[in-house]
Amino acid sequence: MTTTDHTSALRSVGLRVTAPRLATLAAVEAHPHSDAEAIAQAVRENLGTVSRQAVYDVLNALSDAELLRRVSVGGRSMRYEMHRHDNHHHLVCRSCGRLEDVPCAVGAAPCLIPHEDHGFSIEMADVVYRGTCSDCREREAATP
Ligand SMILES: [Zn+2]
Ligand SMILES: [Zn+2]
Ligand SMILES: [Zn+2]
Repeated sequence: MTTTDHTSALRSVGLRVTAPRLATLAAVEAHPHSDAEAIAQAVRENLGTVSRQAVYDVLNALSDAELLRRVSVGGRSMRYEMHRHDNHHHLVCRSCGRLEDVPCAVGAAPCLIPHEDHGFSIEMADVVYRGTCSDCREREAATP
């Protein structure tokens, strides 16, 4: 996407077009699955004088507007990607934190139906597959 696309994406969800918002969208697009810290760093390299808190606020606003998708990988770590509204899931390496997209195994939300729904109307299941990536397995195999 270009800056023009990002501008119209912001307008389409009723958000004002600002330099920090554009820089955040560009940073996430260039480095998908980054955490807030890495995105804040990229935005500051681009714009100079943006506080970390300002970038965190932008990430929240863009996520709430569903321009960005938050990916929870467990613990305190939250990663961000462009929201494609495609219901894909994620593979996470326990060892190095590598995160990869995988298509939904079922094809349609909510993917998993719980045995007890407590009266909820279930919209989605957020699936995270956890394991060890091939690089880490090789590294482990190579360590005596
Ligand atoms: Zn790994
Ligand atoms: Zn993803
Ligand atoms: Zn699924």
